[in-house]
Amino acid sequence: MSTDLNNLQEIYRHRVLEHSKHPHNFRRPTDANREAVGFNPLCGDKITVYLQLDGDQISDIAFEGSGCAISVASASMMTEAIRGQSVPEAGELITTAQNIFATGASADHKALAELEALAGVSKYRSRIKCAALAWSTATAALSGTSKQITTEK
Ligand code: ZN
Repeated sequence: MSTDLNNLQEIYRHRVLEHSKHPHNFRRPTDANREAVGFNPLCGDKITVYLQLDGDQISDIAFEGSGCAISVASASMMTEAIRGQSVPEAGELITTAQNIFATGASADHKALAELEALAGVSKYRSRIKCAALAWSTATAALSGTSKQITTEK
C-alpha cells in the first residue's frame, strides 16, 4: 500500500504552512466597498476581510490581519475560493467550508479542494474557530450588516 496516512498529513501540514507564510491576497484593495473585522479572542486571531462587490459579483476579495497559522491559511484559501463568485455562490461555499471544519467532511466542491488540508481541525474545538474565522468574517462583509464579529459572545 502506497497510501500512507502520515505522509498525507505531512502534505496537508505543508499546505497550511505554505498559505500561512505566504498568504494569497494579503492586501487592502483600493476599490473595496465592503469590509468586516473578525476576532477570535481565544486564540488572538484578528482578520479584516475586504470585498469589492460589482452588483452580484465578488470581483475582488482580500484580507489583512494576524493570527495563528490555521487562521491565516484559512483566510488565504477563503479569498482564493470566493474571488469571482456571485454572492449566492459564495454563501454556499462558506456554508460548505464551515461544515468541513466542524465535521471533517471531505470537500466535494472544486473551489474548496484546498480545504482538505484543514479538515483535521474538526477534531479540535478551539481550532475550528481559527479555521472558520475568515469565512464568518466574509459572511459579515457580504451581508454588510455587521462591521465586526467575534467567535465568542
Ligand atoms: Zn487561531
